[in-house]
Amino acid sequence: MGPASYDVIVVGGGPAGCAAAAAVTRAAPAASVLVLDRADFPRDKPCGDGIAYQVSGELRRLGFDVERVFAGTATVSGLALRSPAGVRAHRRLRDPVHVVPRRIFDARLVRQLAGLGIELRRHAVRTVEVRPGGVCLDGRWHARVVIGADGAESAVRRGAARSQVPAWRRPAPVALAIRGYAPELPEFAGSQYITMTDQHWPAYAWSFPIGGGLANVGYGELLGRRPVNRADLLARLHALLPGLTEPAELRAHRLPLSSGRPSIPDGPVLLVGDAQSMINPFTGEGIYYAVVSGGLAGQAAARALAGDGDAGALYRTSTRRRLGRHLRHTSALARLGGWTALIDAGLRAGRDDQRAFDDLVSFGLADGLLTPRLLSRLRLRD
Ligand SMILES: Cc1cc2nc3c(=O)[nH]c(=O)nc-3n(C[C@H](O)[C@H](O)[C@H](O)COP(=O)(O)OP(=O)(O)OC[C@H]3O[C@@H](n4cnc5c(N)ncnc54)[C@H](O)[C@@H]3O)c2cc1C
Repeated sequence: MGPASYDVIVVGGGPAGCAAAAAVTRAAPAASVLVLDRADFPRDKPCGDGIAYQVSGELRRLGFDVERVFAGTATVSGLALRSPAGVRAHRRLRDPVHVVPRRIFDARLVRQLAGLGIELRRHAVRTVEVRPGGVCLDGRWHARVVIGADGAESAVRRGAARSQVPAWRRPAPVALAIRGYAPELPEFAGSQYITMTDQHWPAYAWSFPIGGGLANVGYGELLGRRPVNRADLLARLHALLPGLTEPAELRAHRLPLSSGRPSIPDGPVLLVGDAQSMINPFTGEGIYYAVVSGGLAGQAAARALAGDGDAGALYRTSTRRRLGRHLRHTSALARLGGWTALIDAGLRAGRDDQRAFDDLVSFGLADGLLTPRLLSRLRLRD
């Protein structure tokens, strides 16, 4: 018996994979779409659980019932930031964010796939073979287009590298972060709190309330500056969040940053979300990028099925159009990121002006730009 055949196979059922599968179905309702994930849902994913306001709109456009996705979960409308030199900005968020443990968020997205006519199976993909007319996975599955949404350690990315030859930037910047759950710190109850440090910079700790007096807490830093292990990460977490109770469910995970994302090659294998290194280098935000890149890849796949062109070329063009300027701004600032005085100046601007604060948030959590308003307010000293 030959491999089971689909129009599109999405590997990974996280936010990027769910968005990609939904986007294919929305653009090409007759297409057969299969999502393969190595895990059964609900499953945990180490994350800060902070979900930018803009994610709701993106999911709604893709056909998800957003009210059900966020029902009964925490909405947070304050954000407190502390820069490496101790500049503090604590303001209301123009658009409240959600904080939802990924065990809940991802399972709710996956549950809605069936209603969109999308098949889900449990399978860990190991091999990817690009053949004339499509792609074969593990010799068992065949699709005209494959979307790799299988996260930071993507097997699809490794497999496709052999045949599609994407241009990798090496060494690509990757961060490592640990997260757990602990009682909220009273000082920042009800707000998201991010405290940056110049020790092992770029590095920061966070506390994001999930409701019921609990918070998702964590610490992350850029890899490659020093050897790092779990004990180091935990020690930094406690140093930056004094008074913290030892968190439960501690898990660490890598974050491939967008400042080192690979270029998007032609071909029938598209990478999205963490597999495409789509994580904001300043905030570690990746869910918004995952949903946007998943949506764009799904649309590109649907257009390729309709004979509009090569899937990779279509995805590259739409990504450039949609996120190109934002990604150029974040990458440019990441190159200057070693200069912590700039981050201090950004927080001074946000502390003194609500609209500069809003611009900072949109730059860090969604697709905002370094606006003239923000740049004109940067001051290197108080
Ligand atoms: C500690 C930490 C804190 C973070 N905090 C935030 C935050 O607060 N807000 C935010 O927006 N982002 C945050 N991020 C980033 C965010 O978690 C990721 O960007 C996001 O999960 C990317 O989604 P994804 O769908 O691309 O990948 P994932 O969520 O990793 O999903 C990948 C899926 O692929 C499956 N899979 C993997 N390999 C295979 C295989 N071989 N075959 C089949 N299936 C496979 C996995 O089971 C998984 O379900 C954080 C990251 C870390 C590590």
